Amino acid sequence: MTAVVRWTRATAAGMAEALERGETTSVELTRAALRMTEMVDGAVHAYLHVDAEGALAQAAASDARRAAGAPLHALDGVPIAVKDVLTTTGLPTTCGSKILEGWIPPYDATVVARLKAAGLPILGKTNMDEFAMGSSTEHSAYGPTRNPWDLERIPGGSGGGSAAAVASFQAPLALGTDTGGSIRQPGAVTGTVGVKPTYGGVSRYGLVAMANSLDQVGPVTRTVLDAALLHELIGGHDPRDSTSIDQPLPGLVAAARQGAAGDLTGLRVGVIRELQGEGYQAGVLARFQESLELLTKAGAEVVEVSCPSFVHALATYYLVMPCEASSNLAKFDAMRYGLRVLPEGVDSPSAEEVMRATRDAGFGDEVKRRIILGTYALSSGYYDAYYGTAQRVRTLISRDFEAAFGQVDVLVSPTAPTTAFKLGEKLDDPLAMYLNDLATIPANLAGVPGISLPSGLADEDGLPAGFQVLAPAMADDRLYRVGAALEAALEERWGGPLLDKAPALEGGSK
Ligand code: GLN
Repeated sequence: MTAVVRWTRATAAGMAEALERGETTSVELTRAALRMTEMVDGAVHAYLHVDAEGALAQAAASDARRAAGAPLHALDGVPIAVKDVLTTTGLPTTCGSKILEGWIPPYDATVVARLKAAGLPILGKTNMDEFAMGSSTEHSAYGPTRNPWDLERIPGGSGGGSAAAVASFQAPLALGTDTGGSIRQPGAVTGTVGVKPTYGGVSRYGLVAMANSLDQVGPVTRTVLDAALLHELIGGHDPRDSTSIDQPLPGLVAAARQGAAGDLTGLRVGVIRELQGEGYQAGVLARFQESLELLTKAGAEVVEVSCPSFVHALATYYLVMPCEASSNLAKFDAMRYGLRVLPEGVDSPSAEEVMRATRDAGFGDEVKRRIILGTYALSSGYYDAYYGTAQRVRTLISRDFEAAFGQVDVLVSPTAPTTAFKLGEKLDDPLAMYLNDLATIPANLAGVPGISLPSGLADEDGLPAGFQVLAPAMADDRLYRVGAALEAALEERWGGPLLDKAPALEGGSK
């Protein structure tokens, strides 16, 4: 086995142990990751920007710390990819938009600062739907990312770049953001693990906002334990984010290790009645049922629970989110950041005219669609009918969660209704695109945490399906306990990690 294959296939926890034992160096791990990118990213396009030089310099510094017996963290030296919606000092941050082309932020997002403080080399910035709006990464102004399982298919979105980087072994870890499912749905369709933490559990400082009341940063990994390690590293109170919860995180790594032992005796699992059946692919539902059986075998009690307001979640989200997005995106005015386009044929254009020309050229169709929707829904006369009603339904959705968590410890559903669809298939049909988030959106509206992990391959197309676990706010540890137990049972069922079954990429590792 070459060093590239050996080290890119290792988990982050495995890399950390190998570093600790002196079996490898951060430079070797980082080089292997970058080499994999050279080999496969021409086809996958997970990255918008690769920082080989910076990552190798950080790796060398990490090795020096290890040699001096002073690593900063267990993951010191383990490389990571970062979604391009998080600010990074000195590295481009485009949010997948033309309007931010060439913008180099002067500050790090808190989560990025925490990665640096722990010594993780940052490999680069990953592709995404423009301003995190989409479910396929096809709305990136820089071209789509492709699914490593089938290059003709989408890797999910908006964080398709982070998921594809991890699924194609270009990085053991990545950061994503999830406003309506952008960590979990890409996880489901690429066979990776993705976690949306409790709202307020991870800092949003330096996350370029789409919808502040819904956005959350979280881990994208290949195993549940790796997600717990990364979540603990980035999570916890940040005085720079006014919505950050000033309370310690529960023990996530401990919960993952406990779960991996496979005993869920006494755990009550609620299957959400409204998130199954019509609109869900048969193979996705079959894998979901199989996972429920595995949970039962592990000692959990599985019951059905009804959350009647969830049927309105998608409509509610597509009012709340565009309202917040239209306000957030007003700051891209051609004066403060990035692109400035002068209107053609105008001698001394006014600020208004420059703004209009810049926003016309700099924003893509999906972004414009949502700005128009949001400004319309917030306009006087319509505000209460649309935004006000959506906020009231949002409260009903939270109450459904509260009632359900009175009966069970965790709720479960398929993560996404289908496996990865073909590039172009839903691009001209916004509603079909929005339907991908049917099952992930309720958690964002209520602020509760969720994990998606691969539940196996759907019979009809051989592509990965996702299993979602949701827990009450600040009980993120339950995701890891249940996730790790199910992951262990599924590995036995599939004879190893699911990603080992992905077809080899051109010039890739098999
Ligand atoms: N796909 C959803 C949307 O288009 C969610 C995106 C996200 O979570 N950032 O809004």
